Amino acid sequence: RLITAQKLSNNEEQLERALRPKLLDEYVGQMKARGQLEIFIEAAKKRGEALDHVLLFGPPGLGKTTLAHIIARELGVNLRQTSGPVLERAGDLAALLTNLEPHDVLFIDEIHRLSPVVEEILYPALEDFQLDIMIGEGPAARSVKLDLPPFTLVGATTRAGMLTNPLRDRFGIVARLEFYTPEELTRIVSRSAGLLNVEMADDGAFEIARRSRGTPRIANRLLRRVRDFAEVKHDGVVTREVADAALQMLDVDHAGLDVMDRKLLLAILEKFGGGPVGLDNVGAAIGESTDTIEEVVEPYLIQQGLMQRTPRGRMATLGAYAHFGLNAPKTDE
Ligand code: ADP
Repeated sequence: RLITAQKLSNNEEQLERALRPKLLDEYVGQMKARGQLEIFIEAAKKRGEALDHVLLFGPPGLGKTTLAHIIARELGVNLRQTSGPVLERAGDLAALLTNLEPHDVLFIDEIHRLSPVVEEILYPALEDFQLDIMIGEGPAARSVKLDLPPFTLVGATTRAGMLTNPLRDRFGIVARLEFYTPEELTRIVSRSAGLLNVEMADDGAFEIARRSRGTPRIANRLLRRVRDFAEVKHDGVVTREVADAALQMLDVDHAGLDVMDRKLLLAILEKFGGGPVGLDNVGAAIGESTDTIEEVVEPYLIQQGLMQRTPRGRMATLGAYAHFGLNAPKTDE
């Protein structure tokens, strides 16, 4: 899947890093999360304390990693980065924690995928800056307590609902990232175009922005593809027409839905009579994992009012019928 919000190759990672805003002021949108963080960062700095632990949640590509780096930079401290699935054993986390400097930021991506043993170690570390680990095995095993420097955990997750309660309770600051408006994404696309030396007309930036599923990562990715198209097929300038032609070629439709979005909606509409249908069934019908559907595909479709999550399963809305030019079935209500 070309236009996915999920992370891809090293090459793409490097580019993402280059396009990442470094300071809170350059971070577009997310006024609520930004407003909160501004105040808490300022207060922590004034008191000379570590910032409270921060939980960032929202669909992939909305700027959680970016924000974690910005938090560290605004605090003037180092950031250590890891992710839930990488921390397999208690010792992996212990090694990271004991290497922190006072007030450093430890960023754990996909924190909902921490193993239970690692999570156990994390609780006292978060609460009392204490490390409580077992050394050795069998009768010779003993528990060792170590003091840690005060630090800030920034956790990111696409699934706040999958966090255990005790873990969630240990975050003093919880910020939910929202999909971006086309206007906000236009600012991001224009900024990225400047950094990449792409000649961009205003209406070209807007066209890419409004068809990027409300997601900066997708906007930046589409920008690069559109740039290639403009260089090869046109004189390099990205106008609305050029952007439109390129996006059509990339199978991003006029409303900004990609192949997977349409596949999902059409399956519900045509194979399951518009729903309600269980997630497992839709997943099987389109050959996609239920995790990907829940985390990556459907949040945007729900936000756009094209589908609904109901207790009996997923349903297509009237908007979905309209999108495909299909007649909605008549109801007696
Ligand atoms: P996540 O961690 O939520 O998956 P990232 O932080 O990696 O998302 O963001 C993906 C890309 O989108 C980054 O490379 C960054 O350039 C861009 N981006 C994200 N949020 C913003 C923002 N608020 N302003 C500008 N660019 C952003």
